[in-house]
Amino acid sequence: MKVIFLGTGGGRWVTLTQRLRTGGFRIHGTANIHVDPGPGALLGLRDFGVPFSKTDALVVTHCHPDHYTDSEVLIEAMTNGATLTRGTLLASESVVRGWEDLGPAISRHHLSRVENLVVMAGGRQAQFHGTRMEGLPAHHRDPTTFGFRLQMDGSTISYTSDTSYKKGLAEGYKDSRVLILNVIRPGRDRIPFHLCTEDAVKIISEVEPELAVINHFGMKMVDVAGKEAARVRRETGVKTVAATDGMEIDIRKDINIGKRLTHGQTRLV
Ligand SMILES: [Zn+2]
Repeated sequence: MKVIFLGTGGGRWVTLTQRLRTGGFRIHGTANIHVDPGPGALLGLRDFGVPFSKTDALVVTHCHPDHYTDSEVLIEAMTNGATLTRGTLLASESVVRGWEDLGPAISRHHLSRVENLVVMAGGRQAQFHGTRMEGLPAHHRDPTTFGFRLQMDGSTISYTSDTSYKKGLAEGYKDSRVLILNVIRPGRDRIPFHLCTEDAVKIISEVEPELAVINHFGMKMVDVAGKEAARVRRETGVKTVAATDGMEIDIRKDINIGKRLTHGQTRLV
């Protein structure tokens, strides 16, 4: 199984300035899954050499633009330009049906092209293309946001999505080989509904994955993400890296980290 980061930026200002890309990330294995296709997801696919048609499932964890904007074009990618009914969409209630003043983020036309539509939430489970996904709770301004735990090809990886830290949150991520956390701010610089590095330390110490990846950086994190990851590693003893645009994690018996070049070649870093 591989995880490819097309974009590692998050929040309004990094998205607007594109200091970091915001296309979300991919999980490739038995199924090829695109997670949280924010602005530039298609450019990321092109620039990092991932064929757009190689998409079996799309996961949209909530209805904020840095997570959903390229959803409809990704559905077109998955359905041969909307000419086939194909693939799986796992998305929050807000993305699919709308929630208060949020969404819906995907047109009825595009929803109709998807073969398997799952309104995902914390506590719900889904099986698709030989994989199993468990929705996990997230505490975010969009109350329908979910994180997940995915079992595919004999490995488990988890993703927090955007959430604040709450006691018990880490339970759902346990027994994951790789844990991806959206850490928008460094240190103890806490903003509502998001994680900062100090929160990440708490979660990672509880979960003890083989590899923790911090991701989804806001402006204050852009220049210090590598240092923050080193701090997490020091404080938890868990191997922790800061995701970079184009980073590729190869999960086999061992876990190796590489950098994807254009045209899809990878060099180890
Ligand atoms: Zn959000």
